[in-house]
Amino acid sequence: MSNLAAVGVIGMAVMGSNLARNLARNGHRVAVWNRTPNKTNELVAEHGHEGDFVPAVELADFVASIERPRRMILMIKAGAPTDSTIDLLVPLLDEGDIVVDGGNAHFEDTRRRELKLRDLGLHFVGAGISGGEVGALEGPSIMPGGSPESYEALGPILESISAKVDGEPCCTYIGPDGAGHFVKMVHNGIEYADMQFIGEAYELLKAVGFSHDEMADVFATWNTGDLDSYLIEITAEVLRKKDPRTGRPLVEVIVDAAGMKGTGTWTVQSALNLGTPVNTIAESVFARAISSAPELRQAARAALQGPDAKIQVADREAFVEQIRQALWASKVVAYAQGLDEIRMAGAEYGWDINVGEVAKIWRAGCIIRAKLLERIRSEYADRKLATLLEAPSVAEGLAGSQDAWREVVSVAVKAGVPVPGFAAALAHYDQARAPRLNAALTQGLRDYFGAHTYRRIDAEGAFHINWSTDG
Ligand code: NAP
Repeated sequence: MSNLAAVGVIGMAVMGSNLARNLARNGHRVAVWNRTPNKTNELVAEHGHEGDFVPAVELADFVASIERPRRMILMIKAGAPTDSTIDLLVPLLDEGDIVVDGGNAHFEDTRRRELKLRDLGLHFVGAGISGGEVGALEGPSIMPGGSPESYEALGPILESISAKVDGEPCCTYIGPDGAGHFVKMVHNGIEYADMQFIGEAYELLKAVGFSHDEMADVFATWNTGDLDSYLIEITAEVLRKKDPRTGRPLVEVIVDAAGMKGTGTWTVQSALNLGTPVNTIAESVFARAISSAPELRQAARAALQGPDAKIQVADREAFVEQIRQALWASKVVAYAQGLDEIRMAGAEYGWDINVGEVAKIWRAGCIIRAKLLERIRSEYADRKLATLLEAPSVAEGLAGSQDAWREVVSVAVKAGVPVPGFAAALAHYDQARAPRLNAALTQGLRDYFGAHTYRRIDAEGAFHINWSTDG
């Protein structure tokens, strides 16, 4: 047996060190390197007993310690650090070696890097990795893009460390160049929407007068049904947590300004470029934006009047059930929009992405893991879908939830409780199912002021009318 490592990991911050430990725990000999050597030393000192690590101080020694074709996973800060590290690495590599970027790169950067390395006879794999630090250690969901040949060499290793559902790995080949990072980006966009819907459900429960402990109980109960998911599960825990300093619910003392690192924004920007509607994700990004706009909020709070965000209901339990249904229906729409975006990008970039396989590898390991994904997987496995919303079990579920969904949105609007996510999802549902949209009037207006022409329902071709003289 060779003494060489099967795989290497570059970057020993939280994600890289946990991924290296996961590889080692799964029986792979792992070469490890970090720009600052003390992090590599710490990993080996603290976790060396978990498996077979080959630490290196010099990058050249790291490269030399890996069997060929070399498989190396970068887990470092995205952006310029990734480019500079690739530049240091490339002169040390041999033809056929595989460089994997497991960071949160923008898919256009991945396309650029893949092209550059392909010209040098190297494989570059943009692999989305979701699950946070615990996922990296215990089994993430992995979304690798790149050449099919590189997946032949890399797939078995990545599949061995990924999360599993009934023994099936949450890792599959996604498609060429930027496909893996694109899918990871949309995963994060859906995550934004999921969290926004949860936030809206929380605000509605608060408006009815539920305490944080009561709300935690509601989410814990929801987690035993159709809404069963990681984010609902941890919402119960977050709501139940008390602030050690004051004894109050911790959420009450957290500043209500949500942060973001950019993947939600990228998802919306890409959707705008592709012309595919993701209004639920866009509203979620904007909801974070307004939360983090203190000047705007302070000025508006002083000037604007409206209801006091209190809701009186005769039957609290019945209202909780309506919120649950609104949350489920909105969630379905967000997943449908994200998957539509992936399908559109697949067509645009020639990636030929299997959307059902994407749902399959999101069932465990990643942040948006949810019971719903099994239903989505099976719907895509059974038939070709233009959108998830047409899948029979999904359409039926939405039809059954829509009365509650509409009621919740109207009650919220009347009470002054902002529910941009629920309302956007419902608007998408109504737009998607409408026999005719107001776009006909839009086309009339565009032709009126700009002679942009319109198409007719009864004849082929582009038409323009002289709005002041014809007809
Ligand atoms: P991070 O804080 O994003 O980055 C720190 C790592 O990058 C360190 O190893 C650091 O080396 C290295 N680095 C920074 N600048 C560098 C440069 N100019 N040249 C070489 N190396 C450089 O680490 P992380 O949180 O573990 O995340 C790693 C990647 O995974 C990121 O792309 C992140 O977006 C992605 N990701 C993170 C999570 C998460 O939950 N944290 C989840 C999914 C994906 P030094 O120690 O020498 O500074």
